[in-house]
Amino acid sequence: RAKRQGRDAACMFSVEQMQELEDRLVLGARLREAIPRGELELHYQPILDAGRRVVTGLEALVRWNSPELGRVPPGRFIPIAEALGLMPEVGLWVIDEACRQLRAWEDAGLDGFTVAVNVSALQLQRPDIVRQVRDSLARHGVPGRRLEIELTESSLMEHVDRVQGHLADIKALGVRLSLDDFGTGYSSLAYLKQFSLDRLKIDRSFVMGLPGNADDAAIARTIIAMGHQLRIAVAAEGVETAEQADFLAGIGCDELQGYHFGRPAPAAEIQARLPRA
Ligand code: C2E
Ligand code: MG
Ligand code: MG
Ligand code: MG
Repeated sequence: RAKRQGRDAACMFSVEQMQELEDRLVLGARLREAIPRGELELHYQPILDAGRRVVTGLEALVRWNSPELGRVPPGRFIPIAEALGLMPEVGLWVIDEACRQLRAWEDAGLDGFTVAVNVSALQLQRPDIVRQVRDSLARHGVPGRRLEIELTESSLMEHVDRVQGHLADIKALGVRLSLDDFGTGYSSLAYLKQFSLDRLKIDRSFVMGLPGNADDAAIARTIIAMGHQLRIAVAAEGVETAEQADFLAGIGCDELQGYHFGRPAPAAEIQARLPRA
C-alpha cells in the first residue's frame, strides 16, 4: 500500500498495517508466557491405512488457548513465534509433549501407531534439534520408530548440508521422516533421493477436487506412482468425503487423513480410536 502511494509516502504505515503490527506485538508478548502458563496443547488427528481403514498413526497439531486472545490458530502464531525467536521453545515443547503422550498411551496398553510432529524450517536448521529429539525419546522411554517428523519442501531448501546432517542423525534414532504439503512448495525431485524420506503427504489442495477434477486426479496418480517407485509411502491429507477416500485408495494411496475420518482432537478424545498392543 505504501508503495502505491508513491515514494514520499514510502515510510508511512496504513492504519491496517499499524493494527497488524500491534496485533503481532501483543500476540508475541502473550506467546512468551504461553508455555510456562500451560496454554499450549496438542490435538491429534488420525491417519488410517487406506485399505484396512484402521488407525496407523496420529498427527500432532499444536493449539494455543490464550485466556486473553482466545484460540489462536497455529497458522497465525507459528510465524510470529519464528520471527520473535520463540520457536525453539515451542518446538521443543511439542516434541517433548508428543513423547510424553506416547509413553502414557503405551502404559495404557495402546501401541502399534506412530505420532507425527510438525517441525519448522528454522527448527530443523538449529544444531540442537537432534539432541532435542534424542533427549525427549530417552526421557520418556519411547522408541524412535514411534515418532515421525513432518517437514516441508521449503525446510529442505536452505542450509541443505546442515539440514541433511540433522535429518540423517534423526533417522539414525529410528524416527521416520515425512514430507508434508507435497506439491505446493518448490518441489525439487532431487530432494526425494537426497533425503531418505519415508512418506510423502499429498497436499490438501490436490485432494479437494477429487474425484471429479481430472488434473487433480492426474497429480495424485503421479505422486503415488513416483513415491512407490522410490519406495516411499504416500499419504493424502484433507480427505473430507467417502468418494475422495475410495478414489485415493483405488489408485494406490497408502494412507488417508482428513475430516472424513476425524478432526484433530485432544488426547483423551482420540484414545478410544487407538489400536491396542
Ligand atoms: P499441516 O501440517 O499440513 O496440518 C494439516 C492442517 O489441515 C491442520 O490445520 C488440520 O487441522 C487441517 N486439516 C486436516 N484435515 C482436514 C480436512 O479434511 N479439511 C480441511 N479443510 N483441513 C484439514 P491446523 O491444525 O490449523 O494446522 C495448520 C498448520 O500449522 C499445519 O499444517 C502445520 O504446518 C502448522 N502446525 C501445526 N502444528 C504445528 C507444530 O506443532 N509445529 C509447527 N512447526 N507447525 C505446526
Ligand atoms: Mg503436518
Ligand atoms: Mg500437511
Ligand atoms: Mg497442509
